[in-house]
Amino acid sequence: MAQVSCSFCGRRKNEVELLLSGIDAHICNHCIQQGNQVVMEELNPKEKKEKKAKLPKLNLITPVEMKHFLEQYVIGQDEAKRSLAVAVYNHYKRLTQPVTDDDVVIEKSNIIMVGETGTGKTFLARSIARILQVPFCIADATTVTEAGYVGEDVETILTRLLQAADYNVEAAERGIVYIDEIDKIARKSDNPSITRDVSGEGVQQALLKLLEGSVVNVPPQGGRKHPDQKMIPLNTENILFICGGAFDGIDRHIAKRINTRPIGFSGDNRIIEIFDKGNLMRYVTAQDLKSFGLIPELIGRLPVLTHLNPLDRETLRRILTEPRNALVKQYKKLFQMENISVEFDDEVLDYIVDQADVYKLGARGLRAICESIMTDAMFELPSMKEVKEFTVSLDYARDKFEKSSMSLLRSVA
Ligand code: ADP
Repeated sequence: MAQVSCSFCGRRKNEVELLLSGIDAHICNHCIQQGNQVVMEELNPKEKKEKKAKLPKLNLITPVEMKHFLEQYVIGQDEAKRSLAVAVYNHYKRLTQPVTDDDVVIEKSNIIMVGETGTGKTFLARSIARILQVPFCIADATTVTEAGYVGEDVETILTRLLQAADYNVEAAERGIVYIDEIDKIARKSDNPSITRDVSGEGVQQALLKLLEGSVVNVPPQGGRKHPDQKMIPLNTENILFICGGAFDGIDRHIAKRINTRPIGFSGDNRIIEIFDKGNLMRYVTAQDLKSFGLIPELIGRLPVLTHLNPLDRETLRRILTEPRNALVKQYKKLFQMENISVEFDDEVLDYIVDQADVYKLGARGLRAICESIMTDAMFELPSMKEVKEFTVSLDYARDKFEKSSMSLLRSVA
């Protein structure tokens, strides 16, 4: 005789813990539980409402408050902070406004940030997501290729967002996605290509689909899409996309544009002299992005364009000590846990900045330099119970750093 099975889900008796029998049908414990949930929700609208309300509340604060919050973590980059705060505020205001019947539809304000590597683009995006307490993920544009080619499909970017939202689709649908290295998918020349450009223009086209706000089928576990995989539909209309890139060489395009644009009565070639030549990035416009190789459709979907300044010595030094989780503060805390108070001589901070300058890694280099100075102390001091104070002097820092692999790298280079 065939084994009895659940008439709802088809599971066999030996696959379930309990199978109840009716006149002509059977039901398993899984389906009873699921059914019970549906009944409770349908008969008790309050419960349904509460479930909906479980979506974490948006922590929407004004642009000024947002900038103020960012200031605790990110040093400098004033223009970027302001543009980001306004764009994010408007974006979320748009989400929280009830639908009205006038024709004014506030459009999404996706953002593009241009700035050298290590100047805080990712850090800014991450900090903004932290303020709003929305799901946040980082994707790398270079790992994505056009569908059908080796690499990841563009939808996998959203897989990461879903994972960050614990697969809560509604929460993911108003999250923030940071797409890094957007400059690396620029097309290779200003003319539309005749040959296939798998990792350039093709990917830009694929990204459009996400940025413009449509329902995208997302593979829950990422990877390549395949026919039997169950997809999760995700509406990207309210997802805020922030793109960032170093756009190496864009200053040439900016300079060219500034130099050739006729200003006033004469097309004065020396006009660039009045500009801040050290940081042409601050004059970046959508036109420069186009000359660099982004397609106009993509630029159109990223209406807020802002730039990050290169970090000068003073900013690097401030980054060491001022932010809430500044590196110096972190080391102090680590040693405090061992009941050791640690101090850094002022010259040490200058020395660290000097080295960061040499390696041209922006703020990202600071951490590695500090580690190479502090590792020995972190290794030895916890077992030296008699030590209660430790001052990092310039001689100590120099000695440790020069013996480190990082400094060896430099001598090889
Ligand atoms: P990017 O995305 O521009 O390449 P990141 O945002 O990843 O650079 O920066 C690397 C790290 O450097 C950050 O995690 C942060 O700790 C630090 N950092 C960079 N810029 C700043 C800044 N302006 N203020 C404070 N910390 C910064």
